[in-house]
Amino acid sequence: MRLLDFIYPSRCELCEQDLTGNHTLCLSCTALIKRTQSPYCQYCGKNFEGLVADLPRCPECQDLHFAFHFAFSYGAYTREARTLIAHYKYLRRIHLTHSLGKLLTQAFKDEPRLTAQNDWLVIPVPLHRRRQQWRWFNQSSEIGKAFARENSLDFGEVLTRTKHTQRQALLSKKQRLQNLKGAFKMKQKHLRAQSTMNRSIILIDDVYTTGATVHECAKVLKDSGEAEKVVVLTLLRG
Ligand SMILES: [Zn+2]
Ligand SMILES: [Zn+2]
Repeated sequence: MRLLDFIYPSRCELCEQDLTGNHTLCLSCTALIKRTQSPYCQYCGKNFEGLVADLPRCPECQDLHFAFHFAFSYGAYTREARTLIAHYKYLRRIHLTHSLGKLLTQAFKDEPRLTAQNDWLVIPVPLHRRRQQWRWFNQSSEIGKAFARENSLDFGEVLTRTKHTQRQALLSKKQRLQNLKGAFKMKQKHLRAQSTMNRSIILIDDVYTTGATVHECAKVLKDSGEAEKVVVLTLLRG
């Protein structure tokens, strides 16, 4: 028995039924988080029902030009998925890290454009220092680290968030983009070490909503970090 089993008895995080083994979600609750399946938008990762083929661009991102190559998510932002992420972030249920990292691995394996390469550098979207102090940890960093370790990929926290912005959720699409301008930078030591130069990068975040945050991060990685390309992998697609 691991130490964590004493602290957190094995119980489903959502329905609280007892579980055997090293799980944090029961099978029926896992199924409530709707996985991304064809057809989905090849650019922003949005899942569509009823269409027969994958869309190169969906109506939502038709006129958008992101700095990243494409975005892909494990599943949809359902009520259950929202609860799970809220427990993780706000109730600080840090023992969920391993399971959430595994969901990223499943998404990674589902998407041929990701499995096509094995030299990815995994980079999490950073939190502002103030928010991280308040929350104790950066969720994207923890799940990104677990994901990178499981898949033997390089991992680096090369970005820093220099602007403490308003909660994005309260803003319109246009305001979000404006609000985030200049919010991220490469860390000096990674700039000097050219950590991202010519690299293919998987940028990790917990939830993709408008793409504004990951767009800004990808821009910095390409413009100052001289990365070759940036793709986005998130747990959930809002
Ligand atoms: Zn359950
Ligand atoms: Zn789209």
